[in-house]
Amino acid sequence: MERKEVIRLFREVVRELGLEKVVRIRIVPMKRKIASFSFKTKTLRINRNIVEIFDEKLMRFIILHELIHFKINDVNHGKEFFEELGRYYSEKTMKSLEIEIIKRLISSSNLNSEIIHFPQSPDSSTSREP
Ligand SMILES: [Zn+2]
Repeated sequence: MERKEVIRLFREVVRELGLEKVVRIRIVPMKRKIASFSFKTKTLRINRNIVEIFDEKLMRFIILHELIHFKINDVNHGKEFFEELGRYYSEKTMKSLEIEIIKRLISSSNLNSEIIHFPQSPDSSTSREP
C-alpha cells in the first residue's frame, strides 16, 4: 500500500471504533514488529518496511488488531480481545489473514526473518485435521 492509503485506512478504522481525535498513527521503520501501539502516547506505529508488502485487507486487520488492544485497554490476547476482533472477522477469516501475513513476511526477502508474527487465534493449537 501507499503510505497515504494507510493513513486513510487508519482514519476509517478509527471512525469505526469510535476513537476519533484520540489515537494517532506513525509509519516508522521498526526492526522486529509489524506494528505496535503505545498506550502512553496513544499512537499506533506501523512498520514502514511492511507497508508496501501488505494490501488493504491485511493492513485493515493489522490496524484493527492494534487498536482493539487500546479499546479494551489490554495488551494481552485474551477472551475479550478475540471477542472484540470477532465482531469484525469470523474465526476462519482471522486464520486465513494470519496465514497470509506470515506468507508475505516470509516471501519478502528484504525483511528480517525474525520479524514477529501476529499472535494466533486462541484455538490455533488445536488440530482440526480429520
Ligand atoms: Zn496484539
